[in-house]
Amino acid sequence: MSARPSWVGQRRPRKVAVVGAGIVGLATAWHLLERGVGVTVLERSGVAAGASFGNAGWLTPGLAVPLADPAVLGYGVGAILDPASPISVPPQADLGLALFLARFAARCRMPQWRRTMAALVPLNTMALEAYDQLEAGGLEVRTVPGPMVAAFTTEKAVASLFHELDLIRAAGQDVDAERVDGERVREMAPVVSPDVGFGVVIKGQRRIDPGPFMESLADAVRARGGEVRVGAEVARLRHGAGGIFVDVVGGEPVRADQVVLATGAWLPRLAGPHGVRQPLRAGRGYSFSVPGPDSELAVPVYFPHERLVCTPLGGGRIRIGGTMEFRPTDAPLVQARIDGLVSTGRPLLPSLDLSAAAREDEWVGSRPVTLDGLPLVGPARTPGVWVHGGHGMWGMCQGPATARLLVEQMMTGTVPEALRPLDPLR
Ligand SMILES: Cc1cc2nc3c(=O)[nH]c(=O)nc-3n(C[C@H](O)[C@H](O)[C@H](O)COP(=O)(O)OP(=O)(O)OC[C@H]3O[C@@H](n4cnc5c(N)ncnc54)[C@H](O)[C@@H]3O)c2cc1C
Repeated sequence: MSARPSWVGQRRPRKVAVVGAGIVGLATAWHLLERGVGVTVLERSGVAAGASFGNAGWLTPGLAVPLADPAVLGYGVGAILDPASPISVPPQADLGLALFLARFAARCRMPQWRRTMAALVPLNTMALEAYDQLEAGGLEVRTVPGPMVAAFTTEKAVASLFHELDLIRAAGQDVDAERVDGERVREMAPVVSPDVGFGVVIKGQRRIDPGPFMESLADAVRARGGEVRVGAEVARLRHGAGGIFVDVVGGEPVRADQVVLATGAWLPRLAGPHGVRQPLRAGRGYSFSVPGPDSELAVPVYFPHERLVCTPLGGGRIRIGGTMEFRPTDAPLVQARIDGLVSTGRPLLPSLDLSAAAREDEWVGSRPVTLDGLPLVGPARTPGVWVHGGHGMWGMCQGPATARLLVEQMMTGTVPEALRPLDPLR
């Protein structure tokens, strides 16, 4: 911990409004309540209405690496304009998005990757312990410990994952990984195609079914005396007599000593007027679930080359997800992208019924992707306003850890070392 106070003249908050009921907002609320602070969570739609619902639920610090890596450039222009490709950009990207992607591409270099990874290591190291803390406080739905498996049809791709794991270790993070053959992959996940000849088992990870988990976290917030107000869309924040007034569309303003903005991919709308200039865009991902006996997928499986993930949800359902689509956050679901996941998934998971009749919960959600691959966590320029978001691909995994750190800063005025690189005003 650094001894330098992050705020001057601000008192410890007694009442905080948290905007957004995703993993980041609810974990922040939970920690504030733990410290005796009164909390109102303001959520425009519902608990986990954004990215925190249909995601893959992987709590896998062993794989939580920067998105901007040199391999992304290998996809090329043809692939990113193809709606079936794992990475896609609309042909008529607006100027802001075009600039964002150009700057993002410029960062897909190893020195940049190493710098970003160094800042992610402390978050990854804390990630599972932060879940332990939430669970110890009493949560109905628990995390499921176990390994995850990366599955490959070519040996060359195995080598590139091992190279990445070496880079993670060189950055200071321990990862316990073992190379296995295709037979071993199918022992753990019989749904995987016989074409898969190679695998890498990453040990000591966890998973959740995000929807039920998020409901149980919201229940824990309420049980501790917090209020979770759904249908409360925040329009703006203003300072007034006695604190900050949070203007809610069609409702009474909510007064609080301090406010935490945790609105995921919508963060720039509310945080921009408070001095947060770091570019953040929606990296949209898709998922659906199909029936599959629990014994057929006992562990989560990732196909790195195809960028497809499969998660056992329990209760005989399997979630399939993937894609990184740079489109506006509120744009409708693009059916061609679900079709793309289906056609990618069929040869890899031949025994699963991926037909339209079998599919449920077709979903699109927006990962909050920052240009430099790091979350935005800390004070905004306006006193009493805090920012918490931008975790990109890894908000489920890292959100509770950054929540704990942010609340530490809010209560003590001391900036935890792990938050220094995440300053939202950087
Ligand atoms: C397909 C897919 C798979 C993924 N898999 C994983 C994974 O396996 N592991 C992992 O760690 N991460 C994963 N992620 C990323 C993860 O889902 C996100 O990083 C994380 O959910 C972001 O959480 P958040 O709380 O910041 O945002 P969100 O969950 O999007 O929450 C923001 C909330 O703010 C609300 N809101 C917005 N504006 C307002 C307003 N003005 N007033 C009031 N409320 C507002 C929204 O309604 C929303 O509920 C995945 C994402 C996708 C799309």
